[in-house]
Amino acid sequence: MTESVLCYIGLGSNLDQPVQHVQCALEELALLPNTVLLQHSSLYSSTPVGPQDQPDFINAVAALSTRLSPDALLDELQALEQAHQRVRERHWGPRTLDLDLLLYGNEVIDTDRLKVPHPYMTERNFVLYPLAEIAPMCEIPGADTLTTLLSGCTLGSLTKLQV
Ligand code: ATP
Ligand code: CA
Ligand code: CA
Repeated sequence: MTESVLCYIGLGSNLDQPVQHVQCALEELALLPNTVLLQHSSLYSSTPVGPQDQPDFINAVAALSTRLSPDALLDELQALEQAHQRVRERHWGPRTLDLDLLLYGNEVIDTDRLKVPHPYMTERNFVLYPLAEIAPMCEIPGADTLTTLLSGCTLGSLTKLQV
């Protein structure tokens, strides 16, 4: 068990009442062992990356304080995806729940199953805008400031939901 580390999780869903999946997942993150849910962003809707023949996504970002190791946290996130009956059919295809470990403190991790910071987070509006909502000063190892990243990342169709 490690000391408490501040982490950020990206949530996404675009199947079977996605708002409920994301809201439920936020409650489940709060119940993870040795973990406290500190904060979460508003919910956003976004058009899919990758295949366009799928519904829009609901996204959010959550801040956790956890004593779980990075691998143990990923295990928990994947177990939650499974509990939401996630089925992997095609790359970047539709899913009931996607939980990406965006940041684990200021650690840089590069193993077969875990890459942190999440490799695409710096270019995804549905990650950067919700992250900025809860942690505008947050630092991403090896990347520009969030302010600089946001200035190069258009809002596009990303919409904050009033739920
Ligand atoms: P993307 O990673 O581009 O957002 P995705 O979320 O659709 O795509 P998945 O199918 O959910 O990708 O995950 C594929 C694999 O990515 C997982 O089995 C996991 O081991 C690995 N992975 C690597 N780094 C991370 C991370 N930071 N968070 C979650 N999974 C990760
Ligand atoms: Ca993802
Ligand atoms: Ca994922």
